[in-house]
Amino acid sequence: MAKRDYYDILGVSRSASQEEIKKAYRQMALKYHPDRNPGNKEAEDQFKEAAEAYEVLSDQEKRRRYDQFGHEGMRGVHGRDFHDVNDIFSAFGDVFGGGFGGGIFDEVFGGSGRGRRSARSQHGTAGADLKVKLPLTLEEIATGIEKKIKVRKQKKCDVCNGSGAKSGTSTSSCPQCNGSGELRQVSRSMFGQFVNITTCPTCGGEGRIVREPCLNCHGEGRLPGETTIKVSVPAGVAEGNYIPLQGQGNAGQRGGPPGDLIVLIEEQPHQYFTRSGDDIIYDLNVSFPMAALGGEIEIPTLTGKAKLVIDAGTPAGRLLRMREKGISHLNGYNRGDQLVRINIWVPSKLTSKEKELLKQLGTNEHIVPNEEERHGHSKTLFGKMKDAFS
Ligand SMILES: [Zn+2]
Ligand SMILES: [Zn+2]
Repeated sequence: MAKRDYYDILGVSRSASQEEIKKAYRQMALKYHPDRNPGNKEAEDQFKEAAEAYEVLSDQEKRRRYDQFGHEGMRGVHGRDFHDVNDIFSAFGDVFGGGFGGGIFDEVFGGSGRGRRSARSQHGTAGADLKVKLPLTLEEIATGIEKKIKVRKQKKCDVCNGSGAKSGTSTSSCPQCNGSGELRQVSRSMFGQFVNITTCPTCGGEGRIVREPCLNCHGEGRLPGETTIKVSVPAGVAEGNYIPLQGQGNAGQRGGPPGDLIVLIEEQPHQYFTRSGDDIIYDLNVSFPMAALGGEIEIPTLTGKAKLVIDAGTPAGRLLRMREKGISHLNGYNRGDQLVRINIWVPSKLTSKEKELLKQLGTNEHIVPNEEERHGHSKTLFGKMKDAFS
């Protein structure tokens, strides 16, 4: 279908000023506004057409191009497609705000689409989502666990089964809005008549009213209470993960749908272990004789205890890997590892006999590092530096 001329659409001359174009568009938008023409596809198309024309003619550069080349010249320039009315308002909202009878326009346009309670159901308002924190130990995370948590929340009233109506009575269609939940008010302004839509104050937008409220919940259909919920936590979760439980949040008002319960995972610090991905790190202090001679030592793991073999001549800082002793991968079959970092224990309290033994030991050839060994890594580092400079 051939596009109509933008000036024709807005009904302005080719020499129209920006102010004239703006004014013309404002009038078109009011005339074809969907709120004034409910269900009228033709009006909606004209509304969109006017927005497109305005988008081009209100922009100096685009307008010049259009004047020169017509619609051909606009290809690829205004790629914007106005799919719905909200797009148009977010694009040109400023035309309607401020200055020109702003208050009126704010009411007409502000209330349409964007803020309107279009999600209003046959029943009352939906219940809110709730968040609860679930602290877990590394042991619990390692294997996964089923937890019971107590949640304080709005629960459906058992007496009226959530309807809010006293037993034996029923709800009825709201007489003020005839069940629509909205009030339409026709007003006149200098731009013609338009319809102002507000939420019905009698029923709060629900379209129904409770004639005799339930005595237990005072017509709310819900009551504050406490409930215990089972949560199945998979192995491998981490701090900041959450588990959404659909429909376990606050009950809705007067039969409205319930919210969700969001369970936030909190990882508790462990006495011995530090988590690194699905591996856990454990720092082990061994005596100098154990590090030098080797041996076997029992250490804690996430599932109990395990024996660890220390090889003779194990240096401080060595990392020993215990495979599959870490945390199960989330959505996987394998586990992380337990990494044991070896530290050499240096005693600070000694008896005089121990001191004597250590003094004797300290004079032995292999106990004390020799001139070369004494410098640790600096020798290699120096070697590398020399290479770099030569
Ligand atoms: Zn009740
Ligand atoms: Zn009403």
